[in-house]
Amino acid sequence: MRQYNKLPKQALVILGIALVLIISTVLWSSSRITQDVTEEVQSTLRDVGTQNALILRQEIRENFNLLYSLADEIGQAGNAENITAITGQLQSFVITYEFKRIGFVSPEGEVVTTDGYIQDLSSREFFIEGMQGLPGISNTLQDRIGTPEPINVFSIPVYDTDNNILGVLFATFRNQHFQEILSVQSFNNQGFSCLVNQDGEIISCSSNAPSSLLEASSVYRYIEDADSRNDRPLRDLSKVLSGSSPASGSFYGDGQKYYYHAVALDNLRNDRQWFVLTIVPDQVLSTRSTPVLLQVRLLILLIILIAAGGTLAYVHSIQIQRRQLFRLAYVDPLTGGDNFACFKEKMMRHNGDRGFYVALDLQDFKIINNTCGVAKGDETLIEVWKIIQSNIHLGEFSAHINADRFILFLRDKDCRTLGPRLQCLCQDLCNLSTKLNIPRVFPLCGVYETTDHREVEQNYGKAVQAKYLVKGKRTAHYAFYDELDIQQLSEDRLMEDAFDDALKNGEFQLWYQPKVDPVKGNILGAEALIRWKRPDGTMLSPGKFIPLFEKNGNITTLDEYVFRTVCEQQQKWLQNGATLYPISVNISRVSLYYSNVVDKYKEILGSFRLDPKYVPLEITESATIDNSDISSLIEQFHEAGFTLLLDDFGSGYSSLSSLNVMHFDTIKLDKSLIDYIGDENGEKLLLHITQLLQSFGMTITAEGVETSAQVEFLKNLHCDDIQGYFFSKPLPLMEFEAFARKHTGL
Ligand code: C2E
Ligand code: CA
Ligand code: CA
Repeated sequence: MRQYNKLPKQALVILGIALVLIISTVLWSSSRITQDVTEEVQSTLRDVGTQNALILRQEIRENFNLLYSLADEIGQAGNAENITAITGQLQSFVITYEFKRIGFVSPEGEVVTTDGYIQDLSSREFFIEGMQGLPGISNTLQDRIGTPEPINVFSIPVYDTDNNILGVLFATFRNQHFQEILSVQSFNNQGFSCLVNQDGEIISCSSNAPSSLLEASSVYRYIEDADSRNDRPLRDLSKVLSGSSPASGSFYGDGQKYYYHAVALDNLRNDRQWFVLTIVPDQVLSTRSTPVLLQVRLLILLIILIAAGGTLAYVHSIQIQRRQLFRLAYVDPLTGGDNFACFKEKMMRHNGDRGFYVALDLQDFKIINNTCGVAKGDETLIEVWKIIQSNIHLGEFSAHINADRFILFLRDKDCRTLGPRLQCLCQDLCNLSTKLNIPRVFPLCGVYETTDHREVEQNYGKAVQAKYLVKGKRTAHYAFYDELDIQQLSEDRLMEDAFDDALKNGEFQLWYQPKVDPVKGNILGAEALIRWKRPDGTMLSPGKFIPLFEKNGNITTLDEYVFRTVCEQQQKWLQNGATLYPISVNISRVSLYYSNVVDKYKEILGSFRLDPKYVPLEITESATIDNSDISSLIEQFHEAGFTLLLDDFGSGYSSLSSLNVMHFDTIKLDKSLIDYIGDENGEKLLLHITQLLQSFGMTITAEGVETSAQVEFLKNLHCDDIQGYFFSKPLPLMEFEAFARKHTGL
């Protein structure tokens, strides 16, 4: 049926928006975090770099300060002996300042050192520069005297009191000290530092620097060898090293990126600028950002899970709601099967398919409910539903509408093949009474065939109308929709509904058809025949409504009404001094079934104090066949003084056999017998019948006489009176009175 399992559109939209938001949040927060961490790392890098520079600066300055104060002392001494004497005292400074040695170089290049080396250092750069009055720190050198190790030489010129250069004082500084200062841990020991001069030559590196850097002599070379993408970084670095302001940059190496911060140490000489490069690999970034990112991602995952859970719960609740709505809308609560709305939807999707709508219900289902209880009634309906289900095929549909009403859509070849199927289904349903121990179940089906399923309700309505064709009859279980039958049915309905008012309003009129003496031609009596004059002026003949009223029982009232009206009329004529003729009245066989019919008629007659001979009673021949008690009724009517006529004699087939028991006074020969006149055999038959009847002492009335030949023939048969169009049609009261006056025979 409906796609109630599908995700609702809103849920999809919400989920989509949520996903987009979440994904963009993840991306944004990740880049934000990376950026923050980068900034943080760079700022730490700057701090560490500045700090390193500060310490190194301090160290260098202290060393120079010492050398300057020593140089002062030597200058004051003024000669070499003094100098040699002083060097002995210098030993204590060597220890305090952790120098390898302190030495003095005479202008001749002779050196005296605290560790006792005497050597010619006249070719050394620091000596030459010192003798020119320039202080300096050398690049990293390999110590030529003493233990071979990297050293840096601090040197200053020594002046005497007259400002003449006495020589150069130097201190050999173990490069390892720079390395120790640079090796202060940073960034979890992932960061390292490097001391370089303005030409990129490496003075010292922290011990944790990559081995390729430790082995390199130039930072440029190291960077150049590290990665081919370093052209630009090299240019940048060279710019940094040619200036003196702190600056940051980056380069590639070992497959990753390195950030550095360079701070100039502001050595004593501008042409000898040293820089501390503090370097950190971007791995530090990920080390720092990964836990944060992980936390953020976990948080986001949690949010996604919560959001997804919420959405799922929402969708689930909507689906439950939809299912409930679907059940309410399309499922019949009693049978659990389809309801009418569901049936309609299905049918509309099969528009154009030929098939039969069957409206099915159980006659007198109320009785089951009333006598066995509602629960049993429900059980019956559920069983009915099951039987319907077991009788329908693939592509056929059914639904419980309400109460005991069901609808089916069956696809059969035609009415002839469908009939037996329905009979079978109804038989199964009839068997329910024994199965469930309930009063008789009598299913009724109305069938309407169509290919148009756009108006399912109307189709069902037609099937229901067809059902009324069999309702109440208990003769057949099903009827097919027939336009004419249905029209008749609806006319019948209208007449049934109008009956009471029509009676009250005097719409039923009596017309009188004279009975005439065939010999003399004068009036002998008449038959009262009913007509229904509808308020719109149409006149209905009894053939239209008598059969209906015989079916629904109204005929008894109507017959009584006619009888009473005739009595009343006779009384009027009597009072008016008119000649009274017997006016016969018809009694339907249905009216005879009432046990007190004789008493009733006697009572009415008594109320008008009328001789019963003026109101003979016509009883239809067929009535005598149905009712075995008819002879006793005739007896009673006779006892009450009524004259009885056997109506329509000859229209049935057992007329003669019923004669013995029926002691009628008059036999009315039916028009069908009269129509034999002119036919030799027919005339013979008529002759013998009349003779036979006359031999029983019965009088004979001929009915439906239309020609003078018929009159002639009947006259010869000694027929007592003649009723027929030849003399007169049934006449309204006034015209009948005129006829009677004209044919008194007086
Ligand atoms: P019915 O009792 O056999 O009445 C005679 C019918 O034959 C009348 O029809 C009458 O008009 C018609 N008829 C008389 N002469 C001729 C003729 O020469 N040619 C032809 N073609 N027809 C002729 P109507 O009045 O239409 O009545 C039809 C039937 O309705 C009656 O048949 C009777 O069975 C029933 N009916 C009429 N009035 C009443 C009534 O008050 N109570 C009951 N229970 N039945 C009535
Ligand atoms: Ca009659
Ligand atoms: Ca008749």
